[in-house]
Amino acid sequence: MSDFTMTIDSEQVASNEWIPVEDPSTGTVFARAPQCTPEQLDAAMASAARAQITWAADEPARQEALRRCAATLNANNEAIAQVLTAEQGKPITESRRETAAAAAWFDYYANLDRRSEIVQDDARAHISVDRRPLGVVAAITPWNFPVMLSSWKVAPALRAGNTVVLKPSPFTPLTALLIGKLLADELPAGALNVVTGGNQLGNLVTTHPIPRKISFTGSTPTGIKVATAAAATLKRVTLELGGNDAAIVLDDVDPGAIAEKLFWSAFINNGQACVAIKRLYVPQSSYGKFVDALAAVAEAQQSGAGIEPDTTLGPINNRPQFERVAGLVEDARTRGARIATGGIALDRPGHFYRPTILADVPDSAPIAAEEQFGPALPVLPYTTVDDAVARANDTRFGLAGSVWGGDQDQARAVADRLEAGIVWVNTHAAPSLRAPFSGVKDSGLGVENGPWGLDGFTELHTTHVARR
Ligand code: NAD
Repeated sequence: MSDFTMTIDSEQVASNEWIPVEDPSTGTVFARAPQCTPEQLDAAMASAARAQITWAADEPARQEALRRCAATLNANNEAIAQVLTAEQGKPITESRRETAAAAAWFDYYANLDRRSEIVQDDARAHISVDRRPLGVVAAITPWNFPVMLSSWKVAPALRAGNTVVLKPSPFTPLTALLIGKLLADELPAGALNVVTGGNQLGNLVTTHPIPRKISFTGSTPTGIKVATAAAATLKRVTLELGGNDAAIVLDDVDPGAIAEKLFWSAFINNGQACVAIKRLYVPQSSYGKFVDALAAVAEAQQSGAGIEPDTTLGPINNRPQFERVAGLVEDARTRGARIATGGIALDRPGHFYRPTILADVPDSAPIAAEEQFGPALPVLPYTTVDDAVARANDTRFGLAGSVWGGDQDQARAVADRLEAGIVWVNTHAAPSLRAPFSGVKDSGLGVENGPWGLDGFTELHTTHVARR
């Protein structure tokens, strides 16, 4: 059993209490993370506050430090990937890719030009607008992509001149702890603190007087709690929340040719992705062919521990999520849905659930109407494109969506009608570090990635020099 440590003021810190961390492929505890005490959280916040002024003062030094962080993440790719697969469950090749992506985010923000503007320069006045850091930022992350999603917050927050206290999910705290330790050698004391604990620690973070901003990724109900807690002290918030992404396939697409791509757009990270396809609308005329083709791809998958070389789909990350997915499939069955494939757990330890394709699901069934966040996809027939668009938009979520078609212009025209922060054409779940990632409706508030993501960790600062 390994014990991991928190990074507070560049020191490695343990605790008297620990949270157990389970390997989802066995269901057994293999490591422990410290349970951060309120005093330790105070120390982390105070350290971040002390470090911030010096950190904000030297932009070239920050850029250089971020480049070193990227290099350190790349140099330790294998070590981080091994811990990621152990705590999250995903196949090791995906863990390596996720770690490389995190390094790419540090490099991108190291090199991005910051924006400042002169809005008036005439005989009357010179008015310039630049962006200042907020101070201390608290970052709270979920368990599905713990390495990459931390970098989406930490890299731009640091580049903008803030210091950070990062609190990962109690299901996957270890990679953040390891990264905190590795980056402590590249950053000044206090620039990045990593603290771990249960959901209650999240509440202590959001109500703490020091942070000026909470950057949160997680479920919509928790996001509402975060926003409510932050409002009491007017902390800024960015909320990247849940989604129920619809994909619409147009009638000029061959089911056999596209099934594999559609499958992976839904089952990326075993369906545990905020921007996975969660509802698939296909033409009524080829409904049976789509269901069969997707079921065939599902049946060709190898479910197993992420560390096993042949594994293409890992376990569900944790027992509550396993119960939720299994419960939604069971509920759909009782409402008349047909399980084309899957619908059962694997007969082995760990949280394994066969990739599941469901047909004949009523739109009102929770597996279609809510976020399943797991390896089960409802395939829904439509008669007209108007019908598909209306049903795709009939949700309180608005994270992402996609349209798939042979005629790109036609697909693009349908994509323009979807109510979502990101709409892809002929792909899905393909976030770019250069493009804004932002949910509409109940899927979020604020933006990550690209220059907009950097702006989110700043406040506008206007200087008006009167000339007469
Ligand atoms: P969650 O909301 O349960 O937890 C997310 C984080 O919030 C964890 O670190 C948790 O400890 C913390 N937390 C819990 N209660 C808190 C409180 N009261 N105050 C402060 N922090 C608290 O989410 P999860 O189950 O870890 O992740 C799955 C969810 O995340 C899904 O809904 C998924 O769609 C969403 N997600 C969204 C994005 C996005 O970018 N939009 C990306 C990944 C995941």
